[in-house]
Formats: sequence, C-alpha cells, structure tokens
Amino acid sequence: MSWMLHGIGASPGRALGPALRAAWDVPGVPHRTIAADRVGAEVERFEQARSWARQRILQIQAETSERIGVVEGKIFEAQALMLDDPDLIAGTLSYIRENFLPAERAFDWRLLEIRSRLADTAHVMALDRLADLRDIRQRVLSRLLRLEEPDVAAQLPPDGAILVFEELTPSLAVQLGSHPVLGLLTATGSRASHSAVIARSLGIPSVVGIGPRLADLPDGQTLIMNGATGRVIVDPAEPEIESFHRSVIHTAERERRLAELASSPTQTRDGERIVLQANLDQPDDATAALRVGAEGVGLFRSEFLVIGRRTIPDEDEQYEAYRRVVEAFPEQGVTLRTFDIGGDKFPIFLSMPMEENPYLGWRAIRVCLDLPDLFRNQLRAAVRAADHGFVRILLPFVVSPDEIRRTREMLDEVVASLDGGQTAEVPLGVMIETPAALETVDRLAPHVDFLSLGTNDLTQYALAVDRGNARLVDMFDALHPALFRMYRRLARSAQEEGVEVGVCGDLAEDPVGVSVLIGLGYRTFSLAPPSHPEIKEVVLAVSASDLRTLANELENGDRPSDIKRPFRRYLEEVIGDRDGLLDRLSVE
Ligand code: PEP
Ligand code: MG
Repeated sequence: MSWMLHGIGASPGRALGPALRAAWDVPGVPHRTIAADRVGAEVERFEQARSWARQRILQIQAETSERIGVVEGKIFEAQALMLDDPDLIAGTLSYIRENFLPAERAFDWRLLEIRSRLADTAHVMALDRLADLRDIRQRVLSRLLRLEEPDVAAQLPPDGAILVFEELTPSLAVQLGSHPVLGLLTATGSRASHSAVIARSLGIPSVVGIGPRLADLPDGQTLIMNGATGRVIVDPAEPEIESFHRSVIHTAERERRLAELASSPTQTRDGERIVLQANLDQPDDATAALRVGAEGVGLFRSEFLVIGRRTIPDEDEQYEAYRRVVEAFPEQGVTLRTFDIGGDKFPIFLSMPMEENPYLGWRAIRVCLDLPDLFRNQLRAAVRAADHGFVRILLPFVVSPDEIRRTREMLDEVVASLDGGQTAEVPLGVMIETPAALETVDRLAPHVDFLSLGTNDLTQYALAVDRGNARLVDMFDALHPALFRMYRRLARSAQEEGVEVGVCGDLAEDPVGVSVLIGLGYRTFSLAPPSHPEIKEVVLAVSASDLRTLANELENGDRPSDIKRPFRRYLEEVIGDRDGLLDRLSVE
C-alpha cells in the first residue's frame, strides 16, 4: 500500500528508484585520559590532523570549483576557515592540556559544545553551519582515528538509487555528481542550504526537510519522488509506476520537440504572445537557460553568491559574475535581484543575529539599506555589468515607497560616481511578495519601472504559513482563493497604473498555476530552466481567451481545489494526460 512523505522541493525533476541510506558516520569517541607526558604528543597529533584536514578541504574546494562551479567551491573555503576558529582550537587544546584528554576526545567535546550552542537555537539560519561543522568533525576524527573517507559511489547499485540522508553535508553532496544518483531525500535542511545549492547545480532532483518520518523509510523501498513539489510516494502502486514511466518517456520526447521549437515564439493557441524567462541561482545556470530557449533572465537570485561565505564578495567579483549572465543574454536582458539575505539564507560574514522570526525579520532590502557599503558595492557591480547588455535591478521584500526612494538615491549616486562612463539606463523594479506591497501598488508604481510577482513569499505572508515548514506543506498552496483574488487585483492595479508586471514565483512552474495566471492577464513568466519544456507545452496548447473566461467565471471558492479544478479540467481537454503532465497536480 503506497504512502506519502512530504518535504520541501529543493531541486526539480522526478525520479523512481530504490531508497538507499547513506551517511558519513564516525563512531563516538570513548572517554579515556592520557598520561601527563603524552600531552605534547597529543597536541602535535591534533595540529597535524587539523592541517591535513585543511589541505584536504582546499583540495575539495579546487575540485568542486572545477567540476561544479566557483560558487559551490566557496562553501569549502568557509569550512577551511572554520578549522582555524580560535574558539575551536583553544578549547580543544585546553581539554588536552588541562583535562588530559586524547586529541580526538578533546576535539569532539569542543565541537559538541559549539554544535549544541548552535543547535539550541533550533534555528534554520544555523543549519548550514551545523552541516559544515559535522563535515569538519568527520574529517578531523577520521584522520585521528585512521578511518577511510566514505565512498558513496561504491554503495550505489548499477542502476542508481534515491539516496536518503538524515543530514546531507557539503562533502557528501559534491561526491554525487559523477554517480548514478537518481534523487536525494533529506530529513533536515532548507531550499537554501549548501547541499541543496549543490544538488541544483548537479541537476539531481531533491526533496529536503522531510523530518523524522524519513526514518520510517526502509532501505531498498521503491520510491517515486518529485523535486518540484516535494512529494514522495513510498511503495507506489502499479498505476503510479506506469504513470511515472509515461511521464519520463514523454518528458524526453517533449524536450526533443521543444528543442526544435526553442527558437520559435511562445504563444497561446489563439496567438497571445507569452514570454518565458529564466530564474537563475548561479551564473553557471545561464547555460541551461539558453538551452531551453529562455527569453532573458527574469530573476537572478544574487544572494547565492554570498550565502555561506566568510568574506564579502568584492565589487569586481560580483561584476564578473553579473557580466557573465548579462553577456549570455545580450538582447533580452537580465533582471538582477539585489541580495535577498535573511530568512533562511544568510551569509556567515554578516554574523547576523539569530532572530525568533527570521522571515519577519532583518531580511533583503532591510539589510541592504542598513549596510550601505554592502549595497553600494552590489549596485556598482550591477551598473557596470549593464554596460555589457541590458540589466534591470529588482528589489526584494519591499513594503514601502521609502525603500525604493532610498535605493534610487543610492543608485543615482553610484551612476554619477562611475566617471560618467556609464551610459546604460538601469530600470528599477520591486518584487510584489508582501501583502503590503500588493495593497499599495498605486503608491509604489510611480517610483518603479516594473513589478515582479513573487508567489512564494506572497503565499507565505498571506496564509501565515512558513514556506520552509515541511509539516505545513499541504497548507502552503499558492492557489488558495485568497491568493487568487490577490493575483487578480495586482493584474488590475498594474494595468491601471500603466506598469508592467511579470511573475517570478514558483506558481508559474505549475501547469495549472500558469494557466490561472494567463487567465488573469499575466503574460511574462520567469521559471527555473528545467520547468521550461513543460510550461512551454502548456502555453502552446491553451487559448488565452478560454482561460480568461474561466478566470472571470471563478468568483467564489473556499479551498485551492475550487480554483484549480476548472483549469485542470480544461488542461485535460486540451492536452490530455498523454504524458503524465497533470500527475503532479493533486486536486481532490
Ligand atoms: C518569491 O518569493 O516568489 C520569489 C520568487 O523569491 P524567492 O523564492 O527567492 O524568495
Ligand atoms: Mg521571495
């Protein structure tokens, strides 16, 4: 009998295969003491293991930069720096010298203290640091105890498996690229955790934050997982497996078909032009975006250049990263979102204070305006990159025109300071992802050149449902009737104000979601490259005027299914379920 697990979709794609538990476990270090004359030798052993671990981490950093990307490599730079943490070193040495503990016991104890201090906060912002500390623990202890590093590849069956981790640390995550890993499931972690960033770069479907129920999953159990929706079917029934195979065959066919269509315009059956742009997390993602024929970048999440970093990327490093993306899309342009840090994404270099409610806290534009040096550097890098193509700047988490005004002032200063060499005009826009912004479009519009609807955060703030809480995943529905009304009001007010509005939230990656939005009048969507083939197929099959009629007829509803049902029926009519396209949509 099949059953479901729910987590947070962290890297899109679907997979079917057996579950395989993997971990890098180092056994607990038993308590013992050493003779006083061994102290010097144990200090020496600790120093040697630490310096060996640093070398090894730097080697992994170099390999990761080469094989996956420079940004992913930087994750290990942060780990190498953690090994030099004075608190860690002094604490370990004092356990050796004063408590006569052997190096491995002293190090493990000190690390345990640091870990439990962080874990005590039970805070999403601490999770990455915990994963990094775990990596460091395993590496140093493995050296001191003469244990081998784990080899995930050796455990994998020839046809691959869906790997199941309690916690996926970056060291294990980077091992995965070259092996037949069908998918990843983790009990902990968030969409922004280091290992999720790596999984996305490697194109491995992933669901994170599943919670303690993942422990009930027997090894070898067949699973079907969906890294976009966060759903995992355990022990699927025959029809579910058949439907999966149909969808895989058709995805491949669809991709082939759409590769032929990539250069032709995207329009609905009744000739309404739809623009499909790409959401990028890293400069390297531009390649995938070009492959699927994206018409520019509608959202470049620049914060992925800084999360997990110990050092602030300077203006030149940022400029190079932005320039690469801008040059990949010289005609259509790049919408560069300023750092959306805070929430579940935080850079180590800021040593941000732990907050009770980080999603309601010091986040995004609030951080940038409070740290003008950081913000100015980013704006300078963006304006310089604009000389190589077309750049628009997008501000996240805005709730008031004052935030735009203050940014505009800073932007003007930056442009003026660039020796007058800057000729490019840089449009400024805001995310509509808070109820406050949505309610005051008439007040914001005079200050901006464009708007971008962020359905992910708008859903979180409108429904009061934490987007990172796996327990509430069923309540987190961007097609709740309240949100449907909000999308409608936004489309109308943007039209009244004469300001362009696109959509960059994940709702546009859902066939029913994008149909609803087309019905409400939206025409520009930005989505992750892997979702392009599917959504392009939907766009080509639907008629905008049919969808408008459906949206206009939908006045009342009590639950998301009331909104979805008519659109799903329509899609079944015009597309059919010939390729499992609708499988991922659950409408009760
Ligand atoms: C959103 O909130 O909808 C959005 C696109 O931004 P992010 O997912 O990066 O918060
Ligand atoms: Mg957002």
